[in-house]
Amino acid sequence: MPVAPKTPVLVTGGSGYIAGFLIRQLLADGWTVHTTVRSLAREAAVRRLLAVDDTRLKFFAADLMHDAGWAEAAAGCSHVAHLASPLPAGVPKHADELIVPARDGALRVLRAARDAGVRRFVMTSSVAAIAYGRGRGEHHFTEADWTPDDARGATPYIRSKAIAERAARDWVAREGGGIEFCSINPSVVLGPVWSRDYSASVVIVKKLLQGALPALPDIGFGVVDVRDVADLHLRALVAPNMVGERFIASGPFMKLRDIAAVLKRELGDDARRVPTRGVPDAVVRLAALFNPLARAVVSELGAVRHQDASHAKAVLGWVPRPVDESIVDAARSLLALGIVKR
Ligand code: NAP
Repeated sequence: MPVAPKTPVLVTGGSGYIAGFLIRQLLADGWTVHTTVRSLAREAAVRRLLAVDDTRLKFFAADLMHDAGWAEAAAGCSHVAHLASPLPAGVPKHADELIVPARDGALRVLRAARDAGVRRFVMTSSVAAIAYGRGRGEHHFTEADWTPDDARGATPYIRSKAIAERAARDWVAREGGGIEFCSINPSVVLGPVWSRDYSASVVIVKKLLQGALPALPDIGFGVVDVRDVADLHLRALVAPNMVGERFIASGPFMKLRDIAAVLKRELGDDARRVPTRGVPDAVVRLAALFNPLARAVVSELGAVRHQDASHAKAVLGWVPRPVDESIVDAARSLLALGIVKR
């Protein structure tokens, strides 16, 4: 890896799952890191979680919904990794609860970055901005694909990521002043969890281990490891020739039944509550009439979305680990932390 610049990098959303791994790696590689939390009251707890008492890590208070704090956080920085964005486990009442902070927040951070003279801006988008809205059947996606803003059946989270990435790219083209922009587009991020404050993406492994799902709907997603997503951000921060690029960060597409099978195979008795039976699509559709979570997956029934990460491998030399390891590490850490009772 190239030598870290003397100027700081701003990582937004320092309390987040992926941000934690990225910040630790940046510090280990010699960077000075600015990071944001909504309130500085969280600084001590986040430092404790990161297990870094490093003077090269500086905290700033900033909320995606407000202008305050972003200029101070970006001041003096040459690089930004913009990770903060709402990722709830449930479905909000109104889509704007996610769309507005994701889109307007990204524009706030971009504006602050341009005004501070930031050279490079890496935005954490998602395959949600690439691979949704096509319905049943097998589909293959690359960075050339976009989820339409009005994709049928898309959840507010999926829409928020597509709308935010598009808005960010439009803004950079219009007003970016030459800032080098690219996006990382991960699929579902799994891997070790180090606190009770874990990302919503890990909830699926938790629910499977707890037996919270009586049977498995015919849905799935690409899986990628949190350590590999952090590593890809690092590569995008320093690589030449990444202006305007998108980088899918994903391993293979896995149905819920494939993830359940990995847990059953690797975890022995700890996986005794993991279901193996499938639930017919008709039952999910019926449940969707009164259950918002079931409603959120109806449009995904029977869909297989292959998300091709060969661009990140070819351009950035990215070498992700086998995803079975990420699934097992997520499960073992949830058990070790007592988040899932044995
Ligand atoms: P996470 O742990 O939930 O982190 C989200 C971060 O965003 C938290 O630090 C959160 O702060 C912050 N945030 C949310 N709303 C905010 C607001 N209004 N103002 C300021 N900060 C706010 O999730 P993650 O998995 O690390 O996700 C990080 C990024 O990766 C997000 O952009 C997400 O969309 C993207 N991504 C995640 C996955 C995945 O499977 N995990 C997949 C693809 C893309 P608080 O702690 O204060 O809430």
